[in-house]
Amino acid sequence: MDKQKKEDPGAANVTRRKRRKRGRPKSKPIIMFLGREVKEYGKKSLVIIKQAINEGKLLCERCLRPMAVHSSYPRGIKETGEKIRITMVWCKKCRKWHAVLPDFLLPNKHYSANEIEGVIIDGETTPIEEIDTAASATTVKRWLKQVGESIIRAVAKLKYHFGRKGQAVSEVAVDDVYCYAQLEQLLEKAPKETKTCGNKLGLANICLGTCGVVEYIGG
Ligand SMILES: [Zn+2]
Repeated sequence: MDKQKKEDPGAANVTRRKRRKRGRPKSKPIIMFLGREVKEYGKKSLVIIKQAINEGKLLCERCLRPMAVHSSYPRGIKETGEKIRITMVWCKKCRKWHAVLPDFLLPNKHYSANEIEGVIIDGETTPIEEIDTAASATTVKRWLKQVGESIIRAVAKLKYHFGRKGQAVSEVAVDDVYCYAQLEQLLEKAPKETKTCGNKLGLANICLGTCGVVEYIGG
């Protein structure tokens, strides 16, 4: 039986395809500024990605060769119903794919980063049922816990990262404050030239990507 499987090239292809399909969502996305909002994204995102490739800023993490644009897939933004196309880049040699996400989206979230950021900010002072959002109370509760925790982890990583780059980060200043306030303070240390749509969770993700951290906020 096993021998038969091995000898059937068709079956081998199916397995490879399946493996690739299964592997795709797990590959770490690249998060960068691709326009301030959906409209600008539609006009500029591909140009920005191609420019980043030409400038050697999108390199394969394994072989350090420049990645190339591969394909795109649709993605919705839940609170507005808008649709955008997410670009996939790949390394032809290593056969590694990455989605390139705009910083106004978080990985694995249907809502925009702005919607989630608003909830996180309000979450400090406002009871869950009074937070102004299109998301359900259950979703809000989940964000406050899950995104809140990933912000705390991101703060720890970025503190270390900015600290190493010679940017002293005062422990006293950022401890014992609400997670978002900590992040906001810390991001003042982000390189000034970092382009961002203005969303702090997105900016944090851009910085986390730059320092090679595996886990994003929201991801
Ligand atoms: Zn490669």
